[in-house]
Amino acid sequence: MKQIKLDSIQSLFKALSATRTLYLPVDTPAGADFKKYEDGVLWSGALNPNRSAKDFFFPQTENMVDFKVEGKTIEIIEPTRPDEDFVVFGVRACDARSFELLDKVFLCDPVDTYYQNRREHGVIVTVCCNKPAETCFCTNFGIDPTAPGGDVACWQDDDTLYLQANTKAGEALLNSVADVLAEADDSAADSVKETVKAIMAKLPIQNLDLSAFTEDNLLNLFGSEQWKKLSEACLGCGTCTFVCPTCQCYDIKDFDTGHGIKRFRCWDSCMYSEFTRCAHGNPRLSQVERFRQRFMHKLVYFPANNNGDFSCVGCGRCLAKCPISMNIVKVIKALGGANK
Ligand code: SF4
Ligand code: SF4
Repeated sequence: MKQIKLDSIQSLFKALSATRTLYLPVDTPAGADFKKYEDGVLWSGALNPNRSAKDFFFPQTENMVDFKVEGKTIEIIEPTRPDEDFVVFGVRACDARSFELLDKVFLCDPVDTYYQNRREHGVIVTVCCNKPAETCFCTNFGIDPTAPGGDVACWQDDDTLYLQANTKAGEALLNSVADVLAEADDSAADSVKETVKAIMAKLPIQNLDLSAFTEDNLLNLFGSEQWKKLSEACLGCGTCTFVCPTCQCYDIKDFDTGHGIKRFRCWDSCMYSEFTRCAHGNPRLSQVERFRQRFMHKLVYFPANNNGDFSCVGCGRCLAKCPISMNIVKVIKALGGANK
């Protein structure tokens, strides 16, 4: 394990950003968000940025291909693939787990080469959550916030940051900044882990009953009377999907530039009325159907196709951001069971 004093953390950021682009959570008037590191930028102490780190691998908009039209000739122009090596520092355990879920979607056959390209260029540095919030419930999905994933995991006490490589890419990253790091005992972060575990145990959403969300129970859940009541105040704003680290739906659109076509994709939301509109019309005409789709996908359809893995990491963003205070925890309790 390595260590660096927090009052020298800028030397770590400078070393990391010397050979690749470094992104880290920074405080803004609207809350923390990931920003590019520049000299002197301060690392935010916020638990989680407003938006998750999925943007680095699955950006909100992305050019896919251009078509140049000249008379009756159409030239297909592939966009230049981003080849920037980058580090995302300060990712929490929940968001780190979301990459494993996104990989299941984008890296299965046929591979999404846009996502794959970004994954190959990015190194993820996670940091253990020192002060988990009341909205945190990652442990329900088997995530241990004191053992965050990513390529390098970090733990922070009052004056020191401890760093441990989880992967070969993480080892290479730590070796590349070895000059600013000192050796630490492998048990150096144990007291931080114990403190965080004790906090987590006292938080209110730690023992959700997810046992009802099985493939066998799909039709019962789909037909539940609860959906109408749960969704009746939903505004269809899509905020919950845009802040969610595991939501991965997108639309592909063509834009006429006047001398050709730019084809791009952009995030979409199952909460929107035009989502998955097909030639025959829209398969989900009411908000209750759209609302049900979001939660059935996260809690039943996705696990049924992915060895039981739920498509939620308990980050709590939808609990904090939904304007009507609706969220996946309320859905789980209404359909599955209350806190044990
Ligand atoms: S954030 Fe809330 S109101 Fe907006 S679409 Fe999601 S559940 Fe509905
Ligand atoms: S559904 Fe809510 S709590 Fe779960 S990962 Fe998405 S934003 Fe986070």
